[in-house]
Formats: sequence, structure tokens, C-alpha cells
Amino acid sequence: MTTSHKSPAYAAQSATTPLAHATIDRRDPGPTDVQFEILFCGVCHSDLHTARGEWPGITFPVVPGHEILGRVTKVGAKVKNFKPGDLAATGCMVDSCRTCDHCKSGLEQFCTAPATFTYNSPDPHFPGKMTYGGYAKTITVDEHFVLRVPENLDPAGAAPLLCAGITTYSPLKHWKCDEKRPDGQPKKVGIVGLGGLGHMGLKFAHAFGCRTVLFTTSPGKADDARRLGADEVVISRDEDAMAKHAGSFDFILNTVAASHNLDAYTNLLRVDGTLCLVGVPENPHPSPQVFPLIFGRRRIAGSLIGGIPETQEMLDFCGKHNITCDIEMIDIKDINTAYDCMLKSDVKYRFVIDMATLA
Ligand code: NAP
Ligand code: ZN
Ligand code: ZN
Repeated sequence: MTTSHKSPAYAAQSATTPLAHATIDRRDPGPTDVQFEILFCGVCHSDLHTARGEWPGITFPVVPGHEILGRVTKVGAKVKNFKPGDLAATGCMVDSCRTCDHCKSGLEQFCTAPATFTYNSPDPHFPGKMTYGGYAKTITVDEHFVLRVPENLDPAGAAPLLCAGITTYSPLKHWKCDEKRPDGQPKKVGIVGLGGLGHMGLKFAHAFGCRTVLFTTSPGKADDARRLGADEVVISRDEDAMAKHAGSFDFILNTVAASHNLDAYTNLLRVDGTLCLVGVPENPHPSPQVFPLIFGRRRIAGSLIGGIPETQEMLDFCGKHNITCDIEMIDIKDINTAYDCMLKSDVKYRFVIDMATLA
């Protein structure tokens, strides 16, 4: 029988109620589980979409948070890689079937079972209940879904790597942005939106040696974008500035959290170029035009976080290159205000909750 303990948390009781104090049950560690005290939790725009009921299939109450970093407090008897006192982290998934083709190839996010996401998934350990995320004091996760954080990284700045980091690293790697073009030139990569995901996309594309262009609706972010690795900044509402880049990009990663016209970006791709969507807006984008796609064999694709082996690879890459997120630390009581700032694109560039402020 699963035994459990109580953990303080912050929950949304409905789509229209602000997040507030709650108490949740967490299971005590089973043989392969790691329990940790959460030190920091990043604030992803997906947390906001979920807490405010913007996506279908949300069951309240919701405890958001999937950029979770903490210190191990207990481990089960069969846990091999973690011991009390270690730094540990968990991202968007806490379980999957481990037997389907996708799980076996390290793409647990595409598990056919499907994967158990860190929040708002049916919780196999508490039948009838949903999983609760990282806006909480403790969490218990199967070792397979616990990541090692390089000790040289600032832990608060490392927490958002668990979603913002892997969600941008994975598509940049999948579309081989870390490799040169056949003519030996670096790939030309665009990042759309300078928020939590976008600023990490910029850092990775720069670290991979790409020629990087940041598309933003916020002229005030241009200097930061250059500091974060952009070779060029384009204000996406300036049609002339956009037209100068027509037909030139190998890859564009679109992180925008709101519905917008995608043709503006498909037109900027080279032949065989890819526009990859990672933003999941509440309302659909207008249907893209067919002409820019067929004249150029261009693609619109999507990408979902990344598997566990690649998430560890990304963390190790960040350790080696000393890459963390640019964060604004907040107290848990300020989470609702932080959401309002995110909606105004006013965050530099990821809010992280100092979980010591959760009593
Ligand atoms: P964020 O920090 O709020 O950044 C989103 C950025 O989009 C803003 O900073 C802004 O950049 C731009 N933007 C916002 N409204 C816009 C509008 N109306 N038109 C054009 N640009 C706009 O959000 P995030 O945490 O990076 O998340 C971004 C999206 O990715 C969310 O929808 C989230 O749910 C999704 N997501 C997907 C995955 C996945 O696996 N696919 C994983 C995590 C998150 P500028 O100010 O520079 O224009
Ligand atoms: Zn996220
Ligand atoms: Zn599976």
C-alpha cells in the first residue's frame, strides 16, 4: 500500500481563482523513488495556460510547476544514482510505460500509454487523482525521471533548464543546427519571441555556432537579445525588416505563446527549411498559406520537450558551457502577479520561485 505525507503547495482551485495555499498528499518513496525537498521551481507559460484553464482537459485543482530543482531527502532501497543530500531535478514528466518503442528509444514524452506529466495527468499512485507539480515543498519521483544537475551551475538559474532548456535544445539538435551547411557555412537560425523558451533557444543556437536572428515584438529587448547571443534582432511587426530576410533561414524556432500569422516566418525559410512550433497558444494560429510551403518544400513542424536521456545531455552541455537561465527570483505569494507580467511579455527572462518562501 502507498503511504504518503502532506506537503504545503500552491494550487489553482478553478480557472478563475488565483493560486493560493493548499496542502497535498505526496507518496512516501517506493523502492525506485527519490523524494526531494524543492528549492526552486521555474514558472513556465504552460503553468499559466493550465492554471487559467486555457487548454482543454484540465482537472482542478491544479498545482503547476515542471522546472523543479531540489535536494534529495530520501531514496528507496533500489535507487542507484541518488543519495540524500544530492542535487536533483525533475522536468515535465514523472513516469511513462518504459516498454513502448518511444520509451525504449528514450523519447518518453511520446509514450503511447501516454507519459505521466508532472501535473494534470492521472496519478497512477493515487487512483482517481491527478499529478501535482512543483509549486510545493516536496516531490517524489521515480529515479528514471530524476535528472542530475552539474554542481558548477547556479541551482536557481538551472531549474528552468528542465523545461525551457530542453524544449529549445531538443529541436535545435533534431534539425542539426549544431552542424554546418554542406557548403561549410553555419546554419542561419531564427528564434521567435524572447521569453523563457526564446532566451534559452538563443543561448543554445549561439553555443552551437549558428548565425542567430531574434524576432521580437518588444523593441526594448534588442540589447538583451544581443547579449544573449543574437547576431541580429528583427522587430517582427516591421514588414520591411522581415522582408530583408526572405528565403534565408535553415531553421526557425517559434516560441510565441499567442496566436499569430505564421506566413510571416515560412516566407523567411530557405528551400527545405523548417519552422518548428513549440508555443501552444490558447487559440489556434490562422491557417498558413500553402504557396510558401510548396514553393520551397518548406515545413512547419512541432516539438514537445525532450526525452530523459536528451534532458541529461542538455544539462551536461550546460554544465560544460556554463549555461543557465536569466532569472527573476520571486516569492511564492507573488505568483499571480508574475503570471500577469508574463502575459505582458514582461519577464527577464524566467521567473523562478524561491520555495523557501512557501511556509
Ligand atoms: P513566455 O516567457 O511568456 O514567452 C513568450 C514570448 O512570446 C513573449 O516573451 C513574447 O516575446 C512573445 N509573445 C507574447 N505574446 C505575443 C504576441 N501576441 N505576438 C507575438 N509574440 C508574442 O513563455 P514561455 O514560457 O517561453 O512559453 C512559450 C510557449 O511555449 C507557451 O505557449 C508554452 O505553453 C509553450 N511551451 C511548449 C513546450 C513544448 O514542449 N512544446 C514546452 C514549454 C512551453 P517578445 O516580447 O520577444 O515578442
Ligand atoms: Zn514548461
Ligand atoms: Zn511508453
